[in-house]
Parts: sequence; C-alpha cells; structure tokens
Amino acid sequence: MKENDFLCPQCRGQLKPNNKIIFSVKTKDGSVGLMLLSPHLGEYSVVKHKSFKLIDGEHLEVYCPICHENLGDQHEHKDLAKVLMINGEDKEYEIVFSLIVGQKCTYKVLGEDVEPFGEDADEYFNFWGEAPTY
Ligand SMILES: [Zn+2]
Repeated sequence: MKENDFLCPQCRGQLKPNNKIIFSVKTKDGSVGLMLLSPHLGEYSVVKHKSFKLIDGEHLEVYCPICHENLGDQHEHKDLAKVLMINGEDKEYEIVFSLIVGQKCTYKVLGEDVEPFGEDADEYFNFWGEAPTY
C-alpha cells in the first residue's frame, strides 16, 4: 500500500521526502532549526539537533522548508497549524496540529469529519463544535 504523503497547503511541495516530515522552526527567543516528525498520526517523536532546544509550553513558529510559508497562518486558531495529507487512495485530508511544545494533539479533518489523535486532543477539539459520539 502506498504511504501517506504530506504537502504544504501553500506550495503543495512534499514535506515528507522519505520517512519523516520536515519543518523549519523558530522559537520565541529567535533560534531556528529543523524539526523532523513522524508521519504516523498520534506518534510524537521529534528529531532535531541537540543544540536546538525546545521548551515545553512555548509557542513555535513552524514554516514550510520549501516556500517558507508560516504554517500557523494556514489555520484560524493561533496555536494550531495545518498541512495536507494525501493517503494511499489519493484522498486529501487537512492535518491540524498544535504549535505548543509538548502538546500532543493532531486532528485529521475532511469536511465536517474530525478525527482526533494524541493524549491532549481534548484541548482544541471544541474548535470544531460538538464532541463526537463514537
Ligand atoms: Zn510550502
């Protein structure tokens, strides 16, 4: 089966050249670095250089490494960012994730359908309205 692809919503460039999603990141104090994330929704391992320090609870600016669009600007909520995911059946979803370091929540969105991932998923879920009944 074909693996999921992750695209920048602005330039539609491939954010996952191999097995990790790559973002360019800036912290509050202005330090910059690359952050590699797992393409498996709900898995929050982060690969980065050891000199690039992230502080739990701080708000990150996350950029497309190709066109440098601020991915936080792609979502209405100030603490959420958005990318696109194309699954093995060429179906396109919006993937919404938190910009707060240490917050484990991701949302897979297709129209009105929102599927939450991560232990902190309740944090922003009411952004989409009623909690699901499943
Ligand atoms: Zn881009």
